[in-house]
Amino acid sequence: MTNSPSLTEIEPNMVKKIFQCPICKRTHQIYFPPEFAKNRSKYPFTYIFIHSFQNADSIEDKDKDVLTTLYIDAHLNIRGVEAIIAEDDTNILSKEVSKAMVSKLTKVIMEMQIEHDQLAEKYAVLRDKYNELVKKN
Ligand SMILES: [Zn+2]
Repeated sequence: MTNSPSLTEIEPNMVKKIFQCPICKRTHQIYFPPEFAKNRSKYPFTYIFIHSFQNADSIEDKDKDVLTTLYIDAHLNIRGVEAIIAEDDTNILSKEVSKAMVSKLTKVIMEMQIEHDQLAEKYAVLRDKYNELVKKN
């Protein structure tokens, strides 16, 4: 994620947030659409993205990718930051990173499954009510 000032020109409503990166040891800027935190199944929710290593001491680290997980609350405040460096910059899906991604995705899928089950229950209740109403009339 580069600190692009032009982004707010294109999207003037974007909400600018900063976070302290445990890998780069720097403050990064990130922009969210204003409604980004709305209608999440739980808070804080996770936002996963990749940014390039900034302020790297060694040349080898310069272009490495940092897999970043932000924990964001309902007011778009960043409550937590987790970052993992991709050790091999030619292969973003190193073992460590893909393991981390899989576990994050598994968590997200499980949350979606719970949400799906809850919706299915609500649907069943509504369907029963509907059937009762149809019988009465
Ligand atoms: Zn960083």
